Amino acid sequence: MSVALFGGTFDPVHNGHLRIASELAELLPVNELRMMPCGVPPHRDKTKVSAHQRLEMLELGIGVNNSILSVEDIELQRPAPSYSIDTVTFMREKLGSSTPLFLCVGMDALATINTWRHWKELLSFCHIAVSSRPGFSAPKQGPLCEWIAQHECDNLNEIKQCPSGYIYFCDLTMLAISSTTIRDKIKQGSSIRYMTPEPVVNYIQQHRLYEQLQTMKNNLHEIIINALEDVKAQDIVSIDVKELTGVMDTMVVASGNSNRQVKSLANNVVVDAKKAGFDLIGIEGDDVSEWILVDFGDVIVHIMLPATRVFYDLEKLWSLRPDDRPISADSDTTMRDINASDQD
Ligand code: ATP
Repeated sequence: MSVALFGGTFDPVHNGHLRIASELAELLPVNELRMMPCGVPPHRDKTKVSAHQRLEMLELGIGVNNSILSVEDIELQRPAPSYSIDTVTFMREKLGSSTPLFLCVGMDALATINTWRHWKELLSFCHIAVSSRPGFSAPKQGPLCEWIAQHECDNLNEIKQCPSGYIYFCDLTMLAISSTTIRDKIKQGSSIRYMTPEPVVNYIQQHRLYEQLQTMKNNLHEIIINALEDVKAQDIVSIDVKELTGVMDTMVVASGNSNRQVKSLANNVVVDAKKAGFDLIGIEGDDVSEWILVDFGDVIVHIMLPATRVFYDLEKLWSLRPDDRPISADSDTTMRDINASDQD
C-alpha cells in the first residue's frame, strides 16, 4: 500500500488544499493520500484554533465515503513540535522498507526546506512531490538548488520502482485561496462560501472560529484564572509581557500550599483550557511539583510553592516597578494586572 502524505496546518482546510490533494492522489502512483495536520508547526506562527478543531474541519472537508483521501493524525499524537523527519521515519517503520512513500509539499515549502530539521535525510525515507503554488518558484542557485538537481526525476515509472530518494515536480491546478485569506475574510465579516466545503463553513460559523482572536486570547487568560481560583490558588498575579517578549502575551504566577496543591492547580488549568479548545504547548516540573510551568503559548503559567516563589522572585525578574501594588483582595479582582511596558 503506497502512501502519500500531504501535510499542512489546515487552519482551516480549504478548496485549494482539497483540489491539490485529489489531483496528487490521481497523479502519483499511490493507493491513498493522507492529509496530515501538524501539531505545533516548527517553522511558522502558532495555529489560530486548536488541533482538535483543525482535525474536525479536515474530516468534514474530506467527507465520508472518500476512498482515496483520508486524515492522518500522527503529528497530533506526538509531543510538539511536528518535524517532518520524525514523521517520515515513523511512517517508514510502519510501511516497511520497500513500499513507496511520498511527502507532498507546496513550492512555498520547498523553497525553505533547507531550514527543516535534518532536511537532507528526508529522501532516505520518502520521495518528495512538489506542487506549484502561485507566487513561488524553485530556487535558482545555491546548495538547495544543487540538492534538488541531484534528486529531481520526471519519470513516475522510475520513481515508483523505489521506496524513496526522488523529487518530483507536479503541474497541478492552483486555486488562489489560502487559509490566511479565509481567516481575514471572517474577521472582516465577509462570506467564505465556496472557498471551503459547506460543512467546514458551517463548523466555523457554529464554533465562531477566527472571529475575534483577541477575544479568544482574553478567554484563555480568564479560563486559567478561574481554574486557579477554583482550586484555591494564592496570590495570583498576571503580568502583561507582550512588549517585552514576542513569545507570549501574559505570564501568570500563582502559589499552592503544598506539592500536592501545586500539582492539582496545574492539572485544573490544563483540563479547563483544553476543554475550551486551547492547545497545551508543554508542561515542566510536574514530577517534583515545586514549580510547575504550564505553557499555552500566549499565556504561560508558573505555579509554585511559596518558598520557591520568594526565592526565584519571577515578578521582580520581569522588572515590575517597586510602586506597583497588588489590587486588594476585596476589590473587583484578586489579581494585579501589571503592564510591564510601563517600566521606568
Ligand atoms: P496559511 O494561509 O495559514 O499560510 P495555507 O493556505 O498556505 O495556510 P497550509 O495548511 O499552510 O495552508 O498549506 C498546506 C499545504 O498546502 C502547503 O504545502 C501549501 O503549499 C499547500 N497549499 C495551500 N494552499 C494552496 C493552494 N491554494 N494551491 C496549492 N497549494 C496550496
